[in-house]
Amino acid sequence: MTSPTPLIAGNWKMNGVAASLSEVKAVAAGIGATKARVAICPPATLIAQAAWAVKGTALLLGGQDCRAEASGAFTGDIAAEMLTDAGASLVILGHSERRAGYGETDALVAAKIEAALRAGLEPIVCVGETLDERKAGKALEIVTGQVRGSLPASLAGKAFSVAYEPVWAIGTGLTPTTPEIEEVHVAIRATLVELFGEHGKVPPILYGGSVKPSNAAEILHATEVGGALVGGASLKAEDFLGIIGAL
Ligand code: PEP
Repeated sequence: MTSPTPLIAGNWKMNGVAASLSEVKAVAAGIGATKARVAICPPATLIAQAAWAVKGTALLLGGQDCRAEASGAFTGDIAAEMLTDAGASLVILGHSERRAGYGETDALVAAKIEAALRAGLEPIVCVGETLDERKAGKALEIVTGQVRGSLPASLAGKAFSVAYEPVWAIGTGLTPTTPEIEEVHVAIRATLVELFGEHGKVPPILYGGSVKPSNAAEILHATEVGGALVGGASLKAEDFLGIIGAL
């Protein structure tokens, strides 16, 4: 059994204007011979321009969310098909900032995953516990419950990844210990195998939450960690390349 191909994805969140495309180009130029697939998920406004800027390179582009419907009267929303049209090949779904800030449920995340598959996008599905849930000893229960509730059966045989992002580690500078990360990743893998059989061994399980060049090597080499979802440290090419180089 070969191990999953690692994925390192940058989540720019609501950061970046046209001038930031220089960072995208620098990442595309600098990824070199890494064994990981590398993606940047900029704001939707930059995807088409970024796609032109990195055409012919190995850098992939992704969206940060999509609506479940393909079109219609949904002011301000973006369809999966629009992301594909702009040049994205991946999409982050179920990020904790959307689960908490927009009330996204597992069922809605599952519907958005169906939309991503319909549009030919590879979903990066985020799960993670809050600090209160971890302190209550419920981290594994919450995370595996989110995996079961968010991943539709139609993902069987499809390319996707799961990102374990403890809510309390996002943007805080805090990270779980390596054994804590490994415990959750092993539980996610077992759940994926329970849901998808042999195919459950294929999707990389990314870690996300305050990954930076100085902690990337330890995290990326932990058991069942198949890459990273990187927020703040993906905004500057030098930092992001430092993380990619740590694999
Ligand atoms: C994220 O938002 O997905 C994330 C991991 O953020 P940060 O790296 O800034 O903690």
